[in-house]
Amino acid sequence: MNIDSIQNGVVIDHIQAGQGMRLYHLLKLDQTELSVAIIRNVVSHKMGKKDIIKIDADIPVNLDVIAYVDPGATVNIIRNGALVEKRQMELPLTLTDVLVCKNPRCITSTEQELHHIFKLTDRENKVYRCLYCETKAGG
Ligand code: ZN
Repeated sequence: MNIDSIQNGVVIDHIQAGQGMRLYHLLKLDQTELSVAIIRNVVSHKMGKKDIIKIDADIPVNLDVIAYVDPGATVNIIRNGALVEKRQMELPLTLTDVLVCKNPRCITSTEQELHHIFKLTDRENKVYRCLYCETKAGG
């Protein structure tokens, strides 16, 4: 794809440099056949350096995941070559099936069918805790 001219797709911009790959995996884009470009360490006047993800398909992206990884990111929806929507992020109160609890004794480790749910418990420090055992989400 020509990464400069997406006709219909999603551009996630202003991602903190170094977070692009992590976001790519958490959005499960590695599990799709879509044409996706990750552009790393783009020089930005505002941020110094930033990452950008361009998805050459008009798909719904999980805004909660993007907000979790980087609340400062912006999501641009492109249709027919024009920017039709720009979305600002807000930290989600819960994250479902995004993070996996690391506590081996957590019920989600043994009950495979349970959803992995994390709750925002400290907005200022962006702390999420497992709904079931309150273990802090890491990384
Ligand atoms: Zn847990």
